[in-house]
Amino acid sequence: MGRSLVWCAGLMTLAAQGQPFQLPTDNHALFDQGGEERFFVGTIGKPWLTGTFGCVRSGGWQMHEGIDIRCLQRDRRGEPTDAVRATADGTVAYFSTRPSLSNYGNYVILRHQVGGLEVYSLYAHLREVRGDLKSGQSVRAGEQVGVLGRTTNTRESISKERAHLHFELNLLVNDRFAAWQRKTFPHQRNDHGEWNGQNLLAIDPRAILLRQHKEGARFSLLGFLQDQTELCRVVVRQQYFPWLRRYAALVRPGPRAEQEGVAGYELALNYNGIPFELIPRAASEIKGKTKYQLLSVNESEYHKNPGRRLVAKRGTRWELASAGRNLVELLTY
Ligand SMILES: [Zn+2]
Repeated sequence: MGRSLVWCAGLMTLAAQGQPFQLPTDNHALFDQGGEERFFVGTIGKPWLTGTFGCVRSGGWQMHEGIDIRCLQRDRRGEPTDAVRATADGTVAYFSTRPSLSNYGNYVILRHQVGGLEVYSLYAHLREVRGDLKSGQSVRAGEQVGVLGRTTNTRESISKERAHLHFELNLLVNDRFAAWQRKTFPHQRNDHGEWNGQNLLAIDPRAILLRQHKEGARFSLLGFLQDQTELCRVVVRQQYFPWLRRYAALVRPGPRAEQEGVAGYELALNYNGIPFELIPRAASEIKGKTKYQLLSVNESEYHKNPGRRLVAKRGTRWELASAGRNLVELLTY
């Protein structure tokens, strides 16, 4: 019995290494040459590119945090019927069946551990959430969690034509989001606790799925994150914050801090604010007295991907804009 257990564990490890993420519906046109039209749903009257991830809307100034996947099946009334499935093994973190509370409509969030990193997948605009889903419940990769749909609370509804799955992969900023929000924005409503969009930093599912498709068993989520392009560098005077534990593999060595003691961290942020490199810094390495400061900006990356408005140029000086300050405050709260 002992031997067969080892054998099973071995197989599971292989599967986990080979394909950590699966496509969440039967639409696999992402992997076909020129299949984009059949895979992505653009915004009204706009090309498929507006259904991809990133600064793809409003001339680059509006960020789309996920990918919009076209439906394949419809019932007699033309409503979508595609099954929506877990992208990886995980547990149910949160779901909402009150579409009026969110522009996501009905949605599900699953928690996954991929290569030691905590990742949250999100499935939005669902027609239905699977009826017996419970918070904390385990789900296997490929297990159905709902039905593709077009629910949302935005003034402009999603037409039958544009019914799609909005799919996200996220990293979580801070477990104490609700407390931070109460303190920082006392008049803002929070209907979804820590599962607020501000507390989830999205990564590009298309880039991940394509890279994984190409690299097979060599794919590493950590490698993908470490390959992000830097938008800016910030130093924070804080010895501990939850990101350091949740994404410990992103921390690089800081020799002086190791000798003199850690006074804070230098962070490299990508254009969506993901701290993808963290270097411990000693007090002697941190200038100034402020809680955090902007060290540098990669201007070409800013011009390519400005949509999150994390930094701004005042005259000749770059500074953290309010979105950037909020992100750093929440990260280190
Ligand atoms: Zn979307």
